Amino acid sequence: MASKTSKQLTILAVVAHPHDITHMCGTLAHHVQDGDRVTVVTMTGGTHAHNQKLIDEMRKPAEQRNLAILQESEEAYGNRKAGEFRRVCALFGISDARLLSYADYPWRLSEDMYQAVAEIILEVRPDIILTHAPRQTNERGWIAYTRHASHADCGIIVGEASGLAAQPDVKSGRQSHPHPTVFYMGVDFPLEQSELFVDISDQAENRIKAEILFTSQDHTPEFANKRINIGAGFMGWMSGTSYAEGWVRARPQLARRLDLTDEEIARRDLPSVEYLARIGKLTTVGV
Ligand SMILES: [Zn+2]
Repeated sequence: MASKTSKQLTILAVVAHPHDITHMCGTLAHHVQDGDRVTVVTMTGGTHAHNQKLIDEMRKPAEQRNLAILQESEEAYGNRKAGEFRRVCALFGISDARLLSYADYPWRLSEDMYQAVAEIILEVRPDIILTHAPRQTNERGWIAYTRHASHADCGIIVGEASGLAAQPDVKSGRQSHPHPTVFYMGVDFPLEQSELFVDISDQAENRIKAEILFTSQDHTPEFANKRINIGAGFMGWMSGTSYAEGWVRARPQLARRLDLTDEEIARRDLPSVEYLARIGKLTTVGV
């Protein structure tokens, strides 16, 4: 399986908003540790999403609103969020973290986005791309669901951009890049559709810290602990470990024979008392 290859991999992650990267940071941290090249890209600065204080103020009648909250510029809010994005990436050892400046609201899928990601693919030359599930049924016939069009559109952008990068372009003479293997993040699917769970138990604390770092989205330590323990914690529970990140392959895997990962063998051989201790392990930060 993929985890057994000795080849160094180049991994590109493409997400809609800065916070979206957190759902895959445990997996990415393991690749950084193994010496793989990891580049992460957010299509937007998320300057309109999750501004909870502003959302609450604008629900009030005009005369009751707090002007200080209304007057924070989009740029200032965006800068806060960009800083959080970079700090979160650094927490997991990711240094190549890029923020593209497309608007998250109103969100408009454009040809320009395909081109921008194609350029990054041609520069980085990834073996694997990690992204959101596209809105339409994927190649395995599953209907993916995501809450915002921008998330689903990221999966579409990656598909289109991969096609552009693979296209021979004699005129420019550039070196084309064959289609990378694409994995969609499991949080975009019903749990049972994840076919691969990456054991991120060693990164659970960092996943909680990453949630806490997104103060622009008003995350509290309580919120952060609960979110990771019911999200990555539940994926871990279902896959027989403490914490996990789920993945769905865009295309079925190709191999010469069936195989078991080291993690599957270790899980099978674990004494049942230790197995219960493992799935029952609770990680908390600051609460
Ligand atoms: Zn998002």
